[in-house]
Amino acid sequence: MDAVSAQTVSAWARHLGVNPADIDVRRLRRDLASGTLPAVFAAAARRSPTATVQIGSERCTHAALHGCAARSASVLAAHGIAPGARVILCAGTSMDFAVCYLAILHTGATVVLANPGYTRTELQHLVDRSAAALLLVDDEAAWVPDVETLAVAEVTTRATDAAELALAELSADDTALLAYTSGTTGRPKGVPLSHGMLLASIRAVMRAWRWSPDDTLVHALPLFHQHGLGGLHASLLAGSNAVVLARFDPHDLVAAVDRERATIVFAVPSIHRRLVSLDADELQPLRRLRFITSGSAALSPALAEELITRTGTQPLERYGLTESGLDVSNLYDGNRVLGTVGFPLPGVEVELFDAAGSIVRAGSEGEIALRGPQVFTGYLDDAAATEAAFWPGSWFRTGDLGRLDDDGRLAITGRLKELIITGGMNVSPREVERIIEELPGVTQAAVAGLASERWGEEVAAWVESDDAIDPTTVMEHCRAHLAAYKCPKQVFVIDALPRNAMGKVVRNQLVAGSGR
Ligand code: AMP
Repeated sequence: MDAVSAQTVSAWARHLGVNPADIDVRRLRRDLASGTLPAVFAAAARRSPTATVQIGSERCTHAALHGCAARSASVLAAHGIAPGARVILCAGTSMDFAVCYLAILHTGATVVLANPGYTRTELQHLVDRSAAALLLVDDEAAWVPDVETLAVAEVTTRATDAAELALAELSADDTALLAYTSGTTGRPKGVPLSHGMLLASIRAVMRAWRWSPDDTLVHALPLFHQHGLGGLHASLLAGSNAVVLARFDPHDLVAAVDRERATIVFAVPSIHRRLVSLDADELQPLRRLRFITSGSAALSPALAEELITRTGTQPLERYGLTESGLDVSNLYDGNRVLGTVGFPLPGVEVELFDAAGSIVRAGSEGEIALRGPQVFTGYLDDAAATEAAFWPGSWFRTGDLGRLDDDGRLAITGRLKELIITGGMNVSPREVERIIEELPGVTQAAVAGLASERWGEEVAAWVESDDAIDPTTVMEHCRAHLAAYKCPKQVFVIDALPRNAMGKVVRNQLVAGSGR
């Protein structure tokens, strides 16, 4: 293993509250990434049999959840699902989702997460790209892609009479999850994540945030995204209580925090924005939390200040990516500096690189690069994308810009990649542009994010059209082919897109011209 900088070790020490000299780097990384998700969850369920998980309106103990998943795994096995197979899970937040997720892992197969808001075309692309053997959905009748399809509720119902399947023999290096990121080319890239990587990611924050079996997590984030799923992982690992709301409503979230005597809330900036609009009295339960997180998109210092004033707590901001799990966090014990995401989590190294691939000095801006047991090793079947994603030395290039202060604290300062983050969900501009450019009469489309109070950024499209196409036609076409969060909220039809000398569209100019 490469040497790890003294600065990184002292960052971990700050998180772990130990003397840097007592950190054995190799051992720490090995411990973080050891085991497999189903085996570790099963062990925790045995240790904390009475801890509960509530998802939507259903609640059960960890032990019951584990048993149900093991029986559902038999149902999947009867459909030929075995180690090495891929199963797409495309369903909303529900107990059936969680059972099926754990059941797939139990068989030793790989879970491919999909947004249930996907259109049929998007889902068919995912089926083709992932070569999945089975698709699990909410409503079987609604989807007829070219693959065997089952409803999640059917799997769990049939499992009632099934025997528990023996846990598949797996190693930490086996792929647990195949996530897809919105690639900058518009073609999503497959990110294989091993059991060890996912465990390292969640264990690192659990140590840093002092997660214990006495904690109760409440969140309203979708389980098909790693952020929400990470909360379930942490709770199942710790043997602590979890309440996952099927959808976000600020009143319901605070009421759940109060009712459940919650200690932890996971949130994204667009949730925080809605929370601060509640009455001070209603927000009282948040004052009793151990902490409330913020992640998936930038939390503006102004919003953070508002939260401090209204709720008495500064969110624990953290930073991570699909490819690398959770990597950087503000300190649980210690000074949290507004506008920064804090220090590398246990096991993680952070460096900043210039465009030529040289490490930049503290205080200068550079591309954030990461190393550690939670970081993936390459995109699925895409050698070119993998090569472009790493600097020599296995440094994963995040495409985000940042600056480290003298103490090693990281601030995210911008983004090199063309990505829109709307309400915590990522949208590739190119994917939307390609759909708009299918329309007759459209010469070219440019899609970018406009600053939005509610969503952080919202998708906007500028359409160059010979015959002054109607913006409504563009919106309807997008709605027919893209999940709702990817569809432009605004469409501007213009004669000519601004282009630079190389003929490339200058998106900044479009955004500046929109007045936002
Ligand atoms: P995803 O792969 O969906 O998890 O999105 C990862 C991207 O979200 C990162 O590359 C960042 O651009 C952004 N992101 C995540 N956390 C933060 C944060 N705390 N502050 C700013 N941007 C963030």
